[in-house]
Amino acid sequence: MRLTGDLHTHTTYSHGKATIEDNIKKAIEKGLEKIVISDHGSGHFLYGVKRAHWIEMRNMVNDMRKKYPNIEILLGVEANIVGVNGDIDVKDDEIHLYDVIYVGYHYGIIPHSIGDFFNFYLLNGLAKVFSGLKKRATQINTEALIKAMDQHPIFMITHPGAKVPVDIDKIAKKAAEKNIVLEINAHHGHLTRDDIKIAQKYNVKFAVNSDSHDLDSIGSVDKGLESIEYASIPIENIINVREE
Ligand SMILES: [Zn+2]
Ligand SMILES: [Zn+2]
Repeated sequence: MRLTGDLHTHTTYSHGKATIEDNIKKAIEKGLEKIVISDHGSGHFLYGVKRAHWIEMRNMVNDMRKKYPNIEILLGVEANIVGVNGDIDVKDDEIHLYDVIYVGYHYGIIPHSIGDFFNFYLLNGLAKVFSGLKKRATQINTEALIKAMDQHPIFMITHPGAKVPVDIDKIAKKAAEKNIVLEINAHHGHLTRDDIKIAQKYNVKFAVNSDSHDLDSIGSVDKGLESIEYASIPIENIINVREE
């Protein structure tokens, strides 16, 4: 099995250590055919890309396509869920900037309302300490993600089950229905091997990515490939690997 594209990489625009061009050059060096620059959505108060910078990134990616015509280069965003109603931190008039929109749960985002803060972020924090709250937190997290999948043009859910608990069965069912890819993230280890087995009940597609925050990690997905082998996912269900 060989990785054909790394669909999830970060740069200095959020909290990665390498530039857009560095990432592209490394991807070429590793023999990849495709790379997606996918920094954090603007709703993350530490790592989010400043809204004005997305236009700069868009122009940079367009320039890079001319400079490196032998690799497919896309601009993505790893958006955040900011409300229990499924709101994400990509505004309607920003959607056109991106080739692909991803959504994932992260800490450190600015919630839409006080209600979202209590129902969502505080609950997830408390659920880590008080296991009795985990069921309720899982339910709220899952419902918000499902609403997001219904409301926004999402290409992929990043590291499902990392950071906060979600019901993988329900997420996979909705993802299959909406043709949304589930990520096997080699950095976070989610989907886990067991989660992949649950998700495979549905005809859902997977992608295995590095989620690189530094140059050396670009295209490094060994941990993810191990999970794929363990869960024996048919290769045609993984969008960015090919049989050698
Ligand atoms: Zn992430
Ligand atoms: Zn990421």
